[in-house]
Amino acid sequence: MNVYDSNRIYDIVKDVGFEKSEDQKNVDCYIINTCHIRDKAKEKVFHEVGRIKEIYANKKKPIMMITGCVAQAENQEILKREPYIDAVVGPQSYHKLSKILKNFNVNQKEDETEFDTIAKFDLLGKIKNSESKVSSFLTIQEGCDKFCHFCVVPYTRGPECSRPFKTVINEAEELIKNGAKEITLLGQNVNAYNFFENNREFRISSLLNELEKYSELKRIRYTTSHPVDMTDDLIECYSSNKKLMPFIHLPIQSGSNKILKLMNRKHKVEDYLDIHKKLMNINPLIKISSDFIIGYPGEEKTDFEQTLELVKYIKFINSFSFIFSPRPGTTAYKQQELDQSVSKERLIELQHNLFQNQINHNKSLERQEINVLVENKIKDQNKYFGRNEYFNSVIFEGYKSDIGKIIKVNIENSNQNSLFGKKKDKMKAA
Ligand code: SAM
Ligand code: SF4
Repeated sequence: MNVYDSNRIYDIVKDVGFEKSEDQKNVDCYIINTCHIRDKAKEKVFHEVGRIKEIYANKKKPIMMITGCVAQAENQEILKREPYIDAVVGPQSYHKLSKILKNFNVNQKEDETEFDTIAKFDLLGKIKNSESKVSSFLTIQEGCDKFCHFCVVPYTRGPECSRPFKTVINEAEELIKNGAKEITLLGQNVNAYNFFENNREFRISSLLNELEKYSELKRIRYTTSHPVDMTDDLIECYSSNKKLMPFIHLPIQSGSNKILKLMNRKHKVEDYLDIHKKLMNINPLIKISSDFIIGYPGEEKTDFEQTLELVKYIKFINSFSFIFSPRPGTTAYKQQELDQSVSKERLIELQHNLFQNQINHNKSLERQEINVLVENKIKDQNKYFGRNEYFNSVIFEGYKSDIGKIIKVNIENSNQNSLFGKKKDKMKAA
């Protein structure tokens, strides 16, 4: 989402005359967009500001803004600790960026950290999305009301809020006009999308089905979803929607019901298995990835073993796993942490299993012909980059004219992260 946000921040400030610059040493304004999900983010901000201060030691100081969730969570503290910073702007106040820049006063610190999501969405709906990538992101929902005990999102992104259906579709049309062939719908709980208008309820399934109608759009994805919001209308899309990819990122966090309860996850392992079963009944080729938190306060060996069992059963691909990071302000912050060496050992074991699943999955695609949406040429190489239906990176020999198309690629090799091959006619030429 921060990639999407950074692009939209650019669209907003472009409106008041700013241009993107690659020349870090000669800018009028720096905007550092930040993430606060795990620890150390704040220190990274101060480190980055220190680096910029050195660059500009003998030059006119650029306007220095911190945006995103670190700005939201640490607002006044940031401004007090580092006077070089001029403004902190939280994720629901980006619509105020142009006003801050227009009225910039070097002697006045700006702190814009209200949850003004509707006003922000309103402005974003009026400003064109200039992103022109084969695969583009599109935020449909922000914030969260679920309050998992480990997570800062409800405090940094604010309450759940969905963008109007029509605004999302309009922005998708802009992206398609700009050349998007794949759109990934985004939200902290993207499948909680819920918008009411004229007595009609729009859900994520409504968006998926509407987007399917655009012939130039070839693929649709969404992330990140929550098990509680995997409703039957959404699951049904995996049968009816031709453009929805057979890959879903559905975080479970732990394979132990005890830990899920302590985390306040509001679902059990059985609920997750039920969703998995429904998806497999529709299409056994659907693949799932997940997020896992290891070393959550209270996690015993048996809880961890249940997580391993789940990983062996579901065979997740492309998953993320993290050691629990205590976040100030959350319920779990002050709880007794596990011994770090135990958590690290467990993380290594879990990742070994996850990576093995990933390697096996990638190996199973070797000597197969797969469908790849070609995104770009790889810099300084005569090779191209694209993705298959399962969002695996594919690096292959092909042609520039294939960018933006779905082509057949023969996979020759693979490793944990990528697939390597040749476009079908390159095989014949070889
Ligand atoms: N809303 C999604 C869900 O509930 O499944 C997840 C979105 S969250 C922004 C992204 C991931 O960051 C989570 O799934 C979780 O695994 C990880 N995460 C969040 N807080 C964390 C913490 N305090 N320590 C470690 N990992 C954390
Ligand atoms: Fe964070 Fe996701 Fe839980 Fe919301 S549902 S609090 S975003 S982990």
